Amino acid sequence: MNYQRSSALFVEAQKVIPGGVNSPVRAFKAVGGDPIFVEKAKGAYLYDVDGNKLIDYINSWGPMILGHAYEPVVNAVIEKAKKGTSFGMPTAIETEIAALAVSMVPNVDKIRFVNSGTEACMSAVRLARGFAGKDKIIKFAGCYHGHSDSFLIQAGSGAVTFGTPNSPGVTEGTAKDTLLAIYNDLDNVAEVITANKDEIACIILEPVAGNMGCIAPAEGFLQGLRKLCDENNILLIFDEVMTGFRLAAGGVQELLGVKADIVTFGKVIGGGLPVGAFAARTEIMDYLAPIGPVYQAGTLSGNPLAMAAGLAMLKELNANKDVFNSINKKTEYLHKGMDETFNAGGVRFTINRIGSMISVHFSETPVTDFTSAANANNENFKKFFHGMLNEGIYIAPSAFETWFICDALSYEDLDTTIAACRKVAKTLK
Ligand code: PMP
Repeated sequence: MNYQRSSALFVEAQKVIPGGVNSPVRAFKAVGGDPIFVEKAKGAYLYDVDGNKLIDYINSWGPMILGHAYEPVVNAVIEKAKKGTSFGMPTAIETEIAALAVSMVPNVDKIRFVNSGTEACMSAVRLARGFAGKDKIIKFAGCYHGHSDSFLIQAGSGAVTFGTPNSPGVTEGTAKDTLLAIYNDLDNVAEVITANKDEIACIILEPVAGNMGCIAPAEGFLQGLRKLCDENNILLIFDEVMTGFRLAAGGVQELLGVKADIVTFGKVIGGGLPVGAFAARTEIMDYLAPIGPVYQAGTLSGNPLAMAAGLAMLKELNANKDVFNSINKKTEYLHKGMDETFNAGGVRFTINRIGSMISVHFSETPVTDFTSAANANNENFKKFFHGMLNEGIYIAPSAFETWFICDALSYEDLDTTIAACRKVAKTLK
């Protein structure tokens, strides 16, 4: 396949946009080569500026659960746009989508809409701190909650020590309030809590992780966190930006039956427009301005186009819960096909999957946390990525990302993908 025009556009982009992209992972730094510039997308396919048609396993990093340019969503946006694109005043559609979202998600009474997953998580943490009257938070190494300062923290010298900034611009002062813990390691979390008794406002995590590749919570991990939170008066925040309205209508809370205190959303809830949201029971949500003391705001929050897209998407998912079954089955089919292919090719690999989230690590040993994900063979991943791209299959350009399956994918597309894997497997060590 030829990607000449994309490469030319990348050269131009780099002159006026840092690194040529508006979000770093798009630049293909983890896999090398030039990024692909998209012309349009429909259903399961991307069409790039060189005229290539690619089967898309990213789906805008998750939101396109029903495929690209899904007609009810597109039409809802067009109709809304005709009536004006932003007012900074209340609109009825905000209540409509809020009521629907709250009815779909367990354990929440109220929801507030923002413009991104970052904003949702940042606001949820502020709310948790304000509500709990404590400053420190626990996050897990390898979990991503957006680029707000409190989350750009890496482990310090020991698991129980304070974190240190992992980006210039994040202050030591901010870092000291973020404690790092190891995913799927309850003993480690208990240790961190004990070392910071009565100082921790909340634990935030991806209840199914998607930012170290896909990593499911170990049996009992989420239940154990719930217990630790209850015993220590800590709020539990599920970041369901990836998993919300994808792994089940009610997200991981519904899927695995564990209750969170605050839940954050993004991606699917906006139907592909820039939307995030956070939700909780009334007692917590009413701590927000204008009725409570915790300030949070946004000129474009609840934007009519974004609400129209999100509402069209949620209505579809709410009316047709079979979608979840359907995407899960497709993902299972792909999983099985890749398993057989890699095994036959003698490739050392681990495929993690939960529902319609799946990822491949070139590792012989199980991948259960950040360290085991980082120990996988990245050279093989790079080869795999470019090999698949050459076959017209677009997977996440980093082993630390998850593939998202959409319902527009046909079994024929999946067979094409598995056949491509068979070919590419021959080039792997
Ligand atoms: N939380 C999770 C789990 C995410 O995966 C992401 C982004 N991929 C975010 C938060 C941040 O969302 P956004 O990029 O919309 O700010």
